[in-house]
Amino acid sequence: MKIGVLALQGAVREHLKHIELSGHEGIAVKHVEQLKDIDGLILPGGESTTLRRLMNLYGFKEALQQSDLPMFGTCAGLIVMAKDIVGEEGYLNKLDISVQRNSFGRQVDSFESELDVKDVAADIEGVFIRAPHIAEVHGNVSILSKIGEKIVAVQEGRYLGVSFHPELTDDYRITRYFINHIVKTTLSEKV
Ligand code: GLN
Repeated sequence: MKIGVLALQGAVREHLKHIELSGHEGIAVKHVEQLKDIDGLILPGGESTTLRRLMNLYGFKEALQQSDLPMFGTCAGLIVMAKDIVGEEGYLNKLDISVQRNSFGRQVDSFESELDVKDVAADIEGVFIRAPHIAEVHGNVSILSKIGEKIVAVQEGRYLGVSFHPELTDDYRITRYFINHIVKTTLSEKV
């Protein structure tokens, strides 16, 4: 399958590598016209205010709001997929969740934690960098992982979102899950 990585900002190369390790073709997506050539899209981490500004500039906000492509957001990518961002307006409105940005406190800006991610694996290494957490889930959103009381991974149908950066480790199992389960199921439903 062909999986795009939104290539406006953030850890694009690392995501492309995980797509290839999963046995699929990764495409750096810089223009909305490329969306028609892919089967799924990864929205990388970075800084979500900058990411939103760039997405507005290049027409991705409308294109993705109208798109039914499966999407996987990591960190800032999760923030832009949320219906609600605490204290700000929601953006793409793909996941029926409320996210709280920078929610792990200043002293612990960045940390790693082993996570049990439902349907994927019980020993996923999560790298958190000024990470958001998911403060509320609604409707058909399922919770895939938590750190204590904080939700850090969710799925709602064809949309997957995590607070951390799987692409910064060698462990590509979440990306493989996104492609081999979520994207594949979406494609088979289309036929
Ligand atoms: N703190 C960033 C934000 O709120 C996200 C950080 C990240 O993607 N690593 O946009």
